[in-house]
Amino acid sequence: MNKKTALIIGSGLGGMATALRLSSLGYPVTILEKHSSPGGRLNQIKIDGFTFDLGPSFMSMSYELTELFKSCNLDIPVQLIPLDPVYQVFFEGKDKPYRIWKDLSKLEQEFAAIEPDFAAKAQRYLKRAGSIFHDTEYRVVKKNFYNKLDYLLKLTRVPPKHLPFLFRNLWEEVENTFSSEEVRIIFSLVAFFLGSTPFKTPAIYTILNYTELEHDGYWKIQGGMYRLVEEMIKLLKEKNVEIIYNTEITGIESSNGNVAAVTDQHGKRWPADIFIANADAAAFRGTVLNRPRYSEQKLDKMDWTLAPFTIYLGVRGKIDGLLHHNYFLGNNFRGYADEIFTSSINPQKPYYYVNVPSKSYHECAPDGCENVLILCPVPDLRFKKNWDDKEKLADTIIDDLSKRTGYDITKNIIVRKTLSPVDWSQMLNLYKGSGLGLAHGMNQVGAFRPRNKDEKFSNLYYVGASTVPGTGLPMVIISSKLVLERILNDNGSVLEN
Ligand SMILES: Cc1cc2nc3c(=O)[nH]c(=O)nc-3n(C[C@H](O)[C@H](O)[C@H](O)COP(=O)(O)OP(=O)(O)OC[C@H]3O[C@@H](n4cnc5c(N)ncnc54)[C@H](O)[C@@H]3O)c2cc1C
Repeated sequence: MNKKTALIIGSGLGGMATALRLSSLGYPVTILEKHSSPGGRLNQIKIDGFTFDLGPSFMSMSYELTELFKSCNLDIPVQLIPLDPVYQVFFEGKDKPYRIWKDLSKLEQEFAAIEPDFAAKAQRYLKRAGSIFHDTEYRVVKKNFYNKLDYLLKLTRVPPKHLPFLFRNLWEEVENTFSSEEVRIIFSLVAFFLGSTPFKTPAIYTILNYTELEHDGYWKIQGGMYRLVEEMIKLLKEKNVEIIYNTEITGIESSNGNVAAVTDQHGKRWPADIFIANADAAAFRGTVLNRPRYSEQKLDKMDWTLAPFTIYLGVRGKIDGLLHHNYFLGNNFRGYADEIFTSSINPQKPYYYVNVPSKSYHECAPDGCENVLILCPVPDLRFKKNWDDKEKLADTIIDDLSKRTGYDITKNIIVRKTLSPVDWSQMLNLYKGSGLGLAHGMNQVGAFRPRNKDEKFSNLYYVGASTVPGTGLPMVIISSKLVLERILNDNGSVLEN
C-alpha cells in the first residue's frame, strides 16, 4: 500500500480520533504523548480504589462519536446513556434545587412558581436557537476554510436573520426571553461549557441550549468517560498504531518548506512524512515553532477560556440529594462572573459544578462510598500566577458543599486530590492553565481561529480544541474529520462522506 507515515503529537481525543481515521485508511501512525497515559483532558486518576474521570463528564452531539467509528467501519465500542434530568441547579439560600428536564412540560412545573408561561417562552427560544444550529452546522461548523475570504463567503450562505445574534451576548438573549433571574441564570450556564461567561459569549451560542434540551441532549458513558479512551486505545493497537508516552515534542527540523522531523525533550529525532499536532494549536506555534505571531506576549493578549480548579474526593457514605451533574451557585451571579475570572485572589463564595459518577456506575468507588469530582472555573495563570494556596480554596468549596448537602464531607474524606491551573498547565501543556483552549468570540472562530494546516510547513497539521471548529468532545471529533479532509486533499484523495 506504501502510504505516507503520520506522526501525531498528543493523545487527546483529537489525536486519537485522527489516528483512528488515518490508520483505518492504511496510514502507518505513531502517537507521541507528553503525559504517562493517553486521553489528554479526557484522562483518569486512580487512587486507593476510587477511579476518577479527570475532566469531561458528559458529551453532547453523540452522533459525532457514532460517525467517527462508522467512518472507520467499526461499531461504537462504548454504551452511551442519555441524561434526564440533564442536571440540577442549587441556588444559595434555596433548599430545593431545580431539576432540568428535557421535557419542557416537566420543566415548566419545575419553574411554575417563578416563570409564568415558561414552556411557550422556552419553545420560542429553542426554535430560534435550533434554526441557528441547523443553518450553521454544515455551512460553517463542519467546513474547512482555505482563507478568510472563503470563510466570509461561506458565512454569506447563513441566513442574515441570524446576524443580530452575533452582536448581542447570551445574557441579553436570556434576559429578553425570561423574567425570572433563576431561569435566566440556568439558561446562561451553557456559556461556562464554552469556558466563558454569558456576558462575554455571543448569543449565537444559544445553540448549546438547543443541543442540551432539544436536539441530542447530554450523554454519559457507561462505566465512566475514560472507557472511551480505553476502547479507542485497544482499536488503535489492533491497527498497529504505536503510542509512546512521556515524550514531549520541543522542537522541529525542517527542509524545503516541510517538517522533516520533530525532536523530543531528550533531543531524539522523530521523522515522518506527515505531522499532526494535537497539542494546543496556538501555543504549539509559539513555544515549539517560535512563531512571532504566537509569542507569549501575543498569546497572552488572545482570549482564553477559564481555567479549571478540580477536586477529586473519595467519600465514605452516600450523599443524598446529588445527581450525576449538579451546579452550586451563589446569589451575585453578575458580580461574580464579571470580577472573579480576572482576579488574583481566591473567591470567598465560589460557584462550582459537582459530578458524582458513583450515582451512575458502582465500579468507580468502593461499596458504600461516593466518587466526587468538583470543578470550579477560576482565573488562568495570566491573572493568578501563584496557586500555593490551592488547598485553602479546596477547603472552602468542600465546606460549602457539606453545608449545602447536609452531609459532613470533610469528616468522611478517604481520598482527596486537588489540581490547580498550574497542575493542569504542567500536566498537559494547557496554555496558562486555560481549560478549554482558545475562547470562541467571533474574532477567534472559523478562519480567525488558528488553522488546521500550518501557514509555513506543507506537511504540518493541527487537530483539537484550539483549532477549527472549537472546543468540547464533539467539536474535537469534528476537528479530526476536518484535518483528515485536509490531509487527503493534499495527498490527492477525497474524503468520502
Ligand atoms: C475540567 C474539564 C472538564 C471538561 N468537561 C467537558 C465535558 O463534560 N464535555 C465536553 O464535551 N468537553 C469537556 N471539556 C473539554 C474537553 O475535555 C476538551 O475540549 C477535549 O478533551 C480536548 O481534546 P484535545 O484532543 O483537543 O486536547 P487534549 O485532551 O488536551 O489532548 C492534547 C494532548 O497533547 C499532549 N501534548 C501537549 N503538548 C505536547 C507536546 N509538545 N508533545 C507531546 N504531547 C503533547 C497533552 O499531554 C495531551 O495529552 C472539559 C475540559 C476540562 C479541562
